[in-house]
Amino acid sequence: MNDRAEHIVKSDELSPARVIEAQFERAKRHFEHLTPGLVNYLRLPLRTITVTIPVEMDDGRVDSFIGYRVLHSDLLGPGKGGIRYHPEVSLEEVSALAALMSWKCSLARIPFGGAKGGVTCDVKHLSHRELRRITRRFIAGLGDNIGPYTDIPAPDMYTDSQTMAWVYDTYDNMHPGENNLPVVTGKPLELGGSEGRGEATGRGCVFALERFLASGGLPGVEEVGGLRIAIQGYGEVGRVAARLLAERGAQVVAISDSTGGVLALNGDVLDLDGVASQKAAAGTVVGLPETRSITNDDLLSLDCDVLIPAALGGQIHSGNADRVQARLIVEGANRPITPEADDILAANGILVLPDILANVGGVIVSYYEWVQNIEHHSWPLDGINGRLRTRINNATDRVVARWREFPSDCPNASEMLCTDLRTAAMVVALERLASVLEQRGIWP
Ligand code: NAD
Repeated sequence: MNDRAEHIVKSDELSPARVIEAQFERAKRHFEHLTPGLVNYLRLPLRTITVTIPVEMDDGRVDSFIGYRVLHSDLLGPGKGGIRYHPEVSLEEVSALAALMSWKCSLARIPFGGAKGGVTCDVKHLSHRELRRITRRFIAGLGDNIGPYTDIPAPDMYTDSQTMAWVYDTYDNMHPGENNLPVVTGKPLELGGSEGRGEATGRGCVFALERFLASGGLPGVEEVGGLRIAIQGYGEVGRVAARLLAERGAQVVAISDSTGGVLALNGDVLDLDGVASQKAAAGTVVGLPETRSITNDDLLSLDCDVLIPAALGGQIHSGNADRVQARLIVEGANRPITPEADDILAANGILVLPDILANVGGVIVSYYEWVQNIEHHSWPLDGINGRLRTRINNATDRVVARWREFPSDCPNASEMLCTDLRTAAMVVALERLASVLEQRGIWP
């Protein structure tokens, strides 16, 4: 880590809570007409739960883990959001991500509020059986605070369909004789999971980008064909986005994972089958023949048309935003750009399709899984992808329309940040929440 990056971490630029708070503050300027106090109600989490998870380890010791579940809002319906297992999980992080889920669900017009959960643990040092015990005890500890009509978990970092199968099984044993499949999404296909869920976020990224270009968002570019694209992250989001973009004639020139990245030589395009084989054989994309190895920081500053950060939060910050050369950034990951970097990018004329739009595909197909479970039905893949495209197109259109209105109605039109796509997306999401809040009124 260089001196600049160290300074950034110390100055708290990467704090998830601070990032989400800053994004909310920027959108808040558009809500001065609301009854005082209502904006604060939209900001604060509705319920936070902390549970201690005692677990008998494989060697006979008893270890205690801490788990969290935050319901940020139930205005639009039951809570919806992933459960992550990571050593850095904290109540602060889970609360910030729960708020992000509220904005996403509202923007995509799906009938869910925002929620998130997590357990502070390192899966790399836990056995399969230990993970199963942690999951069961965590879900038992949450009790009826989760449920098909109260709060519905899903996979997130270092949890997967197997974890969701344990979530379901635990809840089902606690509530025998009911249709409990809709209590959790991201389940294995055989256990009520949905076709298309695994690819939904990467696919949604591509749909949002296509719609944005078709609507004239990036002057002179109407389709992805021919665009030079760099992707950070070769996981569920980055890998799928790369394949779908290449199928549409885009030129994927660089891609990376946690070890580093590869750049096609001589301005050429990556062979994605080769990337997949390299990853399978070596555990990393690095080392692919006829490519140059680059660092993740190099990848972010490549000369390309579109940059897709699809790995971690806080990757583009005040220490490197000035070096970004892409014309458009599509946020596959959650909060990959800090507010300070947003300022720099906006000043440099670089557009950002924000996370609450660009990676909303996953929660949309989670919603479809929930509906299929309630209906005891399963929809074909084509139907799911078609519905996903329509929903993403509509959400993108709403964001672009709001963005285009900004120069005339923005109270601070001279400030670029008040008029960026992220603020537009936040305003669309918050407007719906505020309107529902005013219609429902404050109970009692
Ligand atoms: P994943 O675990 O499948 O893949 C993550 C990728 O990032 C891997 O290739 C990993 O090697 C890489 N990576 C890890 N550390 C890195 C580093 N320091 N630099 C560069 N690359 C690094 O995860 P995913 O499901 O693809 O999710 C990626 C991002 O998208 C996350 O921020 C996640 O929160 C967000 N997201 C995912 C979904 C979803 O449905 N999968 C939905 C919404 C948002």
